[in-house]
Amino acid sequence: MPITFPVLKKYYEGPSVRILQMNLNGLNYNYNGLQITGVFDSLTDEVVRDFQAENKLVSDGVVGPVTWNVLLRKVLAIQSKLNSINFNAGSPDGVYGARTTDAVRRFQSVNGLAMSGIVEPRTRQQLFNPNPPDDYSKIPSSTAISALNPYVASLARQFLNLCTQSGLDVTIIVTFRSWYDQDQLFAQGRTQPGAIVTDAEGGDSYHNWGLAFDCAPMTNGVIDWNATDKFIEMGNLGQQVGLEWGGNWTTFNISIVDMPHFQYTFGLNTEQLLNGARPSQ
Ligand SMILES: [Zn+2]
Repeated sequence: MPITFPVLKKYYEGPSVRILQMNLNGLNYNYNGLQITGVFDSLTDEVVRDFQAENKLVSDGVVGPVTWNVLLRKVLAIQSKLNSINFNAGSPDGVYGARTTDAVRRFQSVNGLAMSGIVEPRTRQQLFNPNPPDDYSKIPSSTAISALNPYVASLARQFLNLCTQSGLDVTIIVTFRSWYDQDQLFAQGRTQPGAIVTDAEGGDSYHNWGLAFDCAPMTNGVIDWNATDKFIEMGNLGQQVGLEWGGNWTTFNISIVDMPHFQYTFGLNTEQLLNGARPSQ
């Protein structure tokens, strides 16, 4: 890197905080209204911790050499890619400045994408994995287990069998969720009425890749959202077969406890999936 950036954390101010915020914003870590102010405020702290968790770094809100390195490399990859396909982003420096934003806008315009200047999921896929043979962005929502990745489907079937054996009547709410439907959910509490229910827009949820499903217990044939004891029992059974349960998301950086949600990620995050990585099965 051409410049060495200082260690940053909450309450720091200055030009390097601006660069931090510009990079997080450009990489689409702005879903709760991150602003480029040069002040490392509480929201910046939250976003940094989320970025660190997503990238398997220590999620402590401290932007030291390791976090800087990951952050700068992600922007460098975008700048190099843009330059290689003749959308001049200037000399790649790892800083998501005006030239990068402008190049992303031109790329989005040519490709019929919203001209935000931010590498949102669809922009990322178009940039790093254009025309995928398995274009998940084109698949409709489903409640079928068969709409899941085959290995995740096998785990879901094992899980549902265990539920039946335990006398739990469980119904599937959604397995694969279309990117369009995910965008509608993301809009809720932001540009549409209601409360915020997700931080993931289309392409950024494991549901959009067939790696997650939501389900709920039934009581007398009716979905029982308040049956916490049944959700917990389901969570335990899901984890027994190797699924990750959303009911365990109680850490500070993932604030939404999501009891109906089960997933299996193969150790991939959605950024890697958008870039073209796929589970081995
Ligand atoms: Zn879910």
